[in-house]
Amino acid sequence: MDCLFCSIIEGKIPSNKIYEDDSVFAFYDIDPQAPVHFLVIPKEHIASPAAITPENSAVVAHVFEVIARLSQELGLENGYRVVTNCGKDGGQSVGHLHFHVLGKRSLAWPPG
Ligand code: 5GP
Ligand code: ZN
Repeated sequence: MDCLFCSIIEGKIPSNKIYEDDSVFAFYDIDPQAPVHFLVIPKEHIASPAAITPENSAVVAHVFEVIARLSQELGLENGYRVVTNCGKDGGQSVGHLHFHVLGKRSLAWPPG
């Protein structure tokens, strides 16, 4: 399948990776809209939020666990936005489910 984010997961297209495990992959957005802007995506190809079903939805909960951890590690302790665009009218430009995380580092970052 010809999918940009599947190619990034497979390493065929380089990315600035932050984290990966068995089911999710996180990397910095190539065109950041905030001081810290990264994407968290399921490794399974799910085309959009509209393609979430009872069979594949568990990974969405895991995405949010990973967002909670990574946002803390990256210094977004004062908060952040999570955005998902769906379909053409929702502004979705890549047809692989992704969650934008947008924020800025707190003044206390890095720790120590
Ligand atoms: P959407 O508009 O579909 O919600 O978000 C797609 C996001 O993917 C955009 O913010 C865009 O900057 C990002 N993006 C598109 N192509 C690439 C790429 O090749 N690498 C990375 N890291 N991000 C990309
Ligand atoms: Zn894909």
